[in-house]
Amino acid sequence: QFLLRDHFDWHYMSIAGAFSIIAGTWFARAFLQSRKHLPRFDYALIVMLVNAAVLVFAAVAGLTTLAVLSITLALLMYPLIVVAALLRWRQGSQEALVFAAGWAALVVALFAQALRDLGFLPHDGVNYYGPLLGSFIEMIVILFALGMTLKRLEIARSAAEQEALIDPLTRTKNRRSFFRLAGSALDRSRDRGAPISLLMLDLDHFKAINDTHGHPVGDQALQAFAAAVEQQIRDDDVFARVGGEEFALMMVGSPKAVEQTAERLRRVISKLSILTGDKEIGFTVSIGVAHYSDEADIEALLQHADRALYDAKQAGRDQVVVFAG
Ligand code: GH3
Ligand code: MG
Ligand code: MG
Repeated sequence: QFLLRDHFDWHYMSIAGAFSIIAGTWFARAFLQSRKHLPRFDYALIVMLVNAAVLVFAAVAGLTTLAVLSITLALLMYPLIVVAALLRWRQGSQEALVFAAGWAALVVALFAQALRDLGFLPHDGVNYYGPLLGSFIEMIVILFALGMTLKRLEIARSAAEQEALIDPLTRTKNRRSFFRLAGSALDRSRDRGAPISLLMLDLDHFKAINDTHGHPVGDQALQAFAAAVEQQIRDDDVFARVGGEEFALMMVGSPKAVEQTAERLRRVISKLSILTGDKEIGFTVSIGVAHYSDEADIEALLQHADRALYDAKQAGRDQVVVFAG
């Protein structure tokens, strides 16, 4: 009104209204994800968008009757967004209920304004500020709904990030998190001059367990193995499933202490058994140990531990072999 003082008329009002309908409906469709979750209802919202485009056209072309029809239809269709939000709430979306409440405030405000302009409500202070207040409340409430959505997405994102670092079968760390954590553990111990070692653990004749008792029993053995090792190690040791039945363990401690732990692990596993039906199945593990020395990086350390593991297999399995250089 300030910019267009001389020529202010219904065209500008209608064009502004049409753009606010387009923005509001577009946002509601995105927020409620109506195309995905309410595919048929979404067509009604698309009709609202098309109708708003018609309103722009009618206003620009100066077609008063078409503009009035279009703006009436737009007003009558506005409550559909509240219905859509309530349907999404029934599908389980908490924030859709808050969104419905916010949009209901706007719908009440718009209808109050229409009734006032048509002469059904008196033109007094309450009826002048009521619609403004309603639409203000709408914006605040919808900000809350947006906040709820962001919080939910953030929780889901960090859970997914966690999950991406974990092996789903054994719930230990996976290969990806091992290389991330082992690299920094190595750097830390290098800085402090603290000794650190890498153990490669590979279950013996695991293929035979699968072949004899079935794959699910093999899975059960992997889970029992991982749980038993987790129980024996410290929180700052890095233990991960790096292959099918191959695990890696990075641990801080003197070479002697690490070798003792490796031997203890081997013994614990050899006594471990899992129950299937009425049978007890035992299994063993071979362990290759490589101690970190200044010239070795993580790649070299892995190669050395693998070499020691190979030697343990060659020597008859169920034993610990330390890489000798
Ligand atoms: P070795 O003592 O020489 O290590 O013999 P092995 O049979 O354990 O070694 P090999 O590498 O030949 O076989 C590994 C087997 O592990 C083959 C594969 O079917 C099995 N395996 C790998 N991942 C899984 C898994 O997630 N679940 C089950 N049940 N078996 C798996
Ligand atoms: Mg094996
Ligand atoms: Mg293997």
